[in-house]
Amino acid sequence: MSERELASRLAAIGRSPRDLHGVFLTHEHSDHARGVGALARKHKIPVFSTEGTYRKIRDAVGELPDWRAFKQEDGVTVGDLRVESYPTEHDAEEPVAFVVLRGSLKLGHATDLGRVTPIVRERLSRSHALLVESNHDIDMLDAGPYPWPLKQRIKSDVGHLSNEACAELLSYLNHDLLQHVVLMHLSETNNHREIAHITAAQALGDNAAKMILACQDRPTQLIAIH
Ligand SMILES: [Zn+2]
Ligand SMILES: [Zn+2]
Repeated sequence: MSERELASRLAAIGRSPRDLHGVFLTHEHSDHARGVGALARKHKIPVFSTEGTYRKIRDAVGELPDWRAFKQEDGVTVGDLRVESYPTEHDAEEPVAFVVLRGSLKLGHATDLGRVTPIVRERLSRSHALLVESNHDIDMLDAGPYPWPLKQRIKSDVGHLSNEACAELLSYLNHDLLQHVVLMHLSETNNHREIAHITAAQALGDNAAKMILACQDRPTQLIAIH
């Protein structure tokens, strides 16, 4: 997203780019990293990424006034948040996902990953909020318009999590103290929101009411974790 679009979406939830203390990049793919240069330069925001991600985006995003490196398994403190990275299986250079900790509260994140590895389950366990990829419905992807090599890429071990894979992860991670689940990175071509919703809801059982689905064209509501 452009700096302008990000600013307008932040404004829609009562926030501004000036409120940001840092931007954390998961990997270099353009749907994640493209707008970071202008955002960081205009508002002097620190950008955190692995060296691999930075190498891949450097030419496309231009100068980052305050770039800070972390490793694939690392932890940094920003304000009163502890942000921990862990490696993901994705066709990128040193991709990561994050766990964010504040006091005893934990937010677990996992998007852009081809498969759920033991480290994903271990890092996300006992999270109070989960942001998890539910990218595609396998049958819709198979029958859909994408070229064959792209279908193979998405389905591969370094592609994206299907609704089913997401549900399996959620069923493993489900517990009494889970307060929020956000389904993320839904494909507009290879998924239906209803299918993603019902597949995850079955995995969550009584916790299904705590689920919301992210949209590509508008910001997700703010949620409080306590
Ligand atoms: Zn990606
Ligand atoms: Zn992505």
